[in-house]
Amino acid sequence: MTKGIKLINVDFFPETFSPAVLYISEEYKVAGHLCACGCGSQVITPLGPAEWCFTEVEGKPSLEPSIGNWQLPCKSHYWITAGRIEWSYGWTEKQIKQGELVEEEQRQLYYAKREKRTKWYFVLQRVFQWFFPR
Ligand SMILES: [Zn+2]
Repeated sequence: MTKGIKLINVDFFPETFSPAVLYISEEYKVAGHLCACGCGSQVITPLGPAEWCFTEVEGKPSLEPSIGNWQLPCKSHYWITAGRIEWSYGWTEKQIKQGELVEEEQRQLYYAKREKRTKWYFVLQRVFQWFFPR
């Protein structure tokens, strides 16, 4: 199991990942690393307001929220905090399912909010054009 992870900034991911490296592509807003349990699976995490939040302090990467590899056979779950892997133990299948649900809900909520905002923008634009025709 990996205990620490170092940061490498890239434009494109390399063909094969090195263990204990977090690849960050700021350009494509995506991060990738090998599952910290050592199973060899690539874990790709998109970065963004509704996805993962990446921060870096003195070259030590952090990702929020935690990495939950429910889709992998190993089902590992850990946090990447300031270049360290913090393991979460004792997650039951039920908790995993709930975790997935919460994440999905948050995502839906975010997109619903964004949609609403966009609609309002168009309404305001219309009103504005009504009063100030070109
Ligand atoms: Zn794994």
